[in-house]
Formats: sequence, structure tokens, C-alpha cells
Amino acid sequence: MSENLIEIKNVSKSFGGVKANVDISMSVKRGAITGIIGPNGCGKSTLFNSIVGYHPIDNGSITFEGNEISHLMVDEIARLGMLRTFQQTRIYGEMNCVDNMQISVSHRPDSKDSMFASRKGEIRERAEHLLEFVGLYSKRNLISGDLSFGQQKLLEFAMALMNEPKVLLLDEPTAGINPTLINGLIDRLRRANEELGITLCVIEHNMRVIMNLASHIYCLSNGKMLANGEPEKLQNDPRVIDAYLGGH
Ligand code: ADP
Ligand code: MG
Repeated sequence: MSENLIEIKNVSKSFGGVKANVDISMSVKRGAITGIIGPNGCGKSTLFNSIVGYHPIDNGSITFEGNEISHLMVDEIARLGMLRTFQQTRIYGEMNCVDNMQISVSHRPDSKDSMFASRKGEIRERAEHLLEFVGLYSKRNLISGDLSFGQQKLLEFAMALMNEPKVLLLDEPTAGINPTLINGLIDRLRRANEELGITLCVIEHNMRVIMNLASHIYCLSNGKMLANGEPEKLQNDPRVIDAYLGGH
């Protein structure tokens, strides 16, 4: 078992003339919480999209547990145990929470209908358990579209956990969330890491959140890797302060 779950080497990705990612190298350590920061438009979400197979990369290599995955599609990579959440939540607003949870498993390409039927009870149990884990058990039968935005984010997080990922890539999990709910979300992320053993890679704009959460942080700027290190080191790096904290 290699220490690095994900290894990214010299990855580049352009959209027409826009160089969204230029020669990016980084790694995600197994069992850790890794952070990615950087100003808006610096290429963070593009990097996630490349990792999970949402679009092909132009150059470079991405390995997961030592195997090259840069040529694989989203479904194939998800089956290996790598999932992402999005800046915008992707729940079915007309359905209740527990149904959203169950649907998130039935969409897995490896879960055949018959297998799903035989596992229905087990899946419902896990759905309820994970709703409790994120603090939404009392809302399990409510229409998810009626939840607050922060609660919808928690639901989306729980939906990802339904698939028992080895690693979860979270794109700005606290964006748009009421500050009073942010601490609860951070606590859930940390517990998913410590208690469920899920490796996390988190894009986060909120500096306080990421400094608290991650053991190693990468900072992007203009599509390039600007700096990386432990939170304390990065926080005091003049290049990071200039690019990020300077508030461009
Ligand atoms: P961040 O997540 O750091 O805010 P993004 O990765 O979303 O940044 O965007 C990086 C750059 O790539 C931006 O200039 C953005 O407009 C561009 N970009 C991202 N996705 C696409 C796309 N699908 N088509 C064209 N340009 C894109
Ligand atoms: Mg983004």
C-alpha cells in the first residue's frame, strides 16, 4: 500500500486559449486531509475534474493507488473508490432525504437491479445511519429541496459516503453555508476522516477552515502550483499572502 493514494505529475489542461492547469504536480496522502487553496479562477475545480475523469488532460500523469487513471472515465474512477462533490449541490430536490441517499447507491454502475433489490434493507439502514452521522436523521423524510443550503450540502456529503469511497474530493464544501453551520460541517468532515477512514482532498476558499482541517495544503495561482506545505508554513509564505490572502 503506497503512502500516496493519488499522485499527480506534470498535469496540464487548457480550454482553448485558457491555460487552466499548467504543469501541476501534487500528491494526496492516504488517510490524510489535503487542502487546495487559491484565488477564484486559478484552476482548482479544473484539477478536480481532471482527477476524477470528467475531462481528459492534455499532458501528465495521474495515478490512484499506483495505477494510471488519467485515461479512465468518471464511472470507472468512481468504481475504484474516488468520488467528488461539487460547488453546487446535486440532489434531487423533489425527493426526500432518505430516497436521495438510496438513489445515490443505485446509480452506481456496478449495482445491478437484482442486487439492489436484495440489498434494499441494508441500503436503507446505511442511509439512515449516515443521515444520523451528518445530523439530518430527524429530517430524513422531508423533501430535500426544503432543507437549508447548508443542510443540502450535508446531505450531498452523506450521499457520497453511501458509496464508501476511499477518497472524497470536496469542492468548496463550506461555500454559501451559514457561518454557524460551518463548524458542524468541519466536524463531520474530520469524523469521516478519523472514524470512517476516508481520505479527503478539500478545495476551500475559507482560510480558517482549511488551516484547521488539512495537514498539508497546496496553493494554486494562475493555473500553476505556487507553493505547498503544512498550514503554518503556508500561512506565512509571502507568495501565498500576496496571491491569496492579499485578496485580489
Ligand atoms: P477555480 O475552481 O479555481 O475557481 P476553475 O478551475 O473553475 O477555477 O477555472 C480555471 C480557469 O479555467 C478559468 O479561467 C475558467 O474560466 C476556465 N474554465 C474552467 N472550466 C472550463 C470549461 N469547461 N471551458 C472553458 N473554460 C473553463
Ligand atoms: Mg472552483
